[in-house]
Amino acid sequence: MADTLKSLRGMHDVLPAQSAAWQYLEQHVRDLMQSYCFEEIRTPLLEQTALFSRSIGDVTDIVEKEMYTFADRNGESISLRPENTASCIRSAIEHGLLQPGQVSRLWYQGTMFRYERPQKGRYRQFVQFGAEVYGIPGPQIEAELILLSANLWRRLGLDREMHLEINTLGTADERTHYREQLVAYLRDYSDALDADSQRRLESNPLRILDSKNPAMQAVLAEAPTLLDTIGDESREHFDGLQTLLRGFDIDVRVNTRLVRGLDYYSHTVFEWVTDRLGAQGTCCAGGRYDGLTEQLGGKLTPAVGWAIGAERILALLEETQGVPVRAVADVYVVMGGGVAAESGLQLAEELRTQLPGAGVICHAGGGSMKSQFKKADKSGAQCALVLGEQELADGTVTVKFLRQQSEQQTMARAGLAQFIQSAIQTDGV
Ligand code: ATP
Ligand code: MG
Repeated sequence: MADTLKSLRGMHDVLPAQSAAWQYLEQHVRDLMQSYCFEEIRTPLLEQTALFSRSIGDVTDIVEKEMYTFADRNGESISLRPENTASCIRSAIEHGLLQPGQVSRLWYQGTMFRYERPQKGRYRQFVQFGAEVYGIPGPQIEAELILLSANLWRRLGLDREMHLEINTLGTADERTHYREQLVAYLRDYSDALDADSQRRLESNPLRILDSKNPAMQAVLAEAPTLLDTIGDESREHFDGLQTLLRGFDIDVRVNTRLVRGLDYYSHTVFEWVTDRLGAQGTCCAGGRYDGLTEQLGGKLTPAVGWAIGAERILALLEETQGVPVRAVADVYVVMGGGVAAESGLQLAEELRTQLPGAGVICHAGGGSMKSQFKKADKSGAQCALVLGEQELADGTVTVKFLRQQSEQQTMARAGLAQFIQSAIQTDGV
């Protein structure tokens, strides 16, 4: 017998039982983006590898070891996108969305790929929702982007589960200066550094700051912080953000170790973190990346954004309030013996036209009335519509409610849709 085939490690199916939760989350995100007037952008899953190495940075975890990179048929190196900020900027440059004075408020939903060690909340294929704003410098738009995410947590009933960590990375010059101070400090502890940190000491020393290794945290306890080294302008920017956020009900914590994994950030960086998901508690991460457009060949444009890990939000919803479920059907058409399939199909089509919001299943595959009713019950439908020979002859249908105690009633086809609509609505469907 042939081996059974399975999905790839870290890549999961969303089964019908789980898709209601996905749709619930997606709908909330779409509604939210509309209320902030963000417009949707969709970019390809595959891009030139250079897009990611030039934006995210050659010595980041993502580019060093997490990208799915391969040669296209013409030999060009291409990669499955590990995140979407670089693609959005690439697209904005390519299509002229970054004209001087122009502001773009964009959002996306999409699949990302990273070759990571799969575990709860960490997959090789996962979905991010993102928001990006181009053309506005300063902390006000950063605050609004943070409020946008906070609003989502409120709408989902998760606002008490999250706190916001913020930090500033200052300007590129300030980081270069700080980098020297940090490396000088860490050299004194080089024996105590773990292998990852040893490696990063030369290539990307700031990343050592967010090492999850407790031994490294001890070494870092007395390390200089960027916040202590930045100049007045950067400090004002950061203070400005904090002042703006103070007027809102958000648990804001300054975390001077927060540096984020990507190279393109400057000034503000932030993460929304929950304590309910263990090590994979970061649900949303973002910051300002004014330098990225230039890095990718465009004009210098202020830019800020964040990305939410959809699977982590779904896990948090499940952990805190259970998974939203949705009945598959509202109405199930049952056919008596001797009634042609065509008549059932016709009735179902009529209802779908008259009640476009209702889910209608027309029984297929034959079977006794009893087995048809069993299927109707399993579908979650509120009512079964019975079409027997008598009904067909009289131009009527028998309506039987499946979730409430009430007599079945036979009624004319003409008023059926309206009757069902009001019956289903009073049921709160
Ligand atoms: P982490 O520190 O958890 O690895 P990251 O800094 O790599 O996160 P970003 O690139 O900023 O994450 O992505 C934004 C969000 O996307 C994360 O906060 C997380 O919620 C989600 N995310 C990132 N990588 C994965 C993954 N492999 N599987 C599922 N969700 C992910
Ligand atoms: Mg990561």
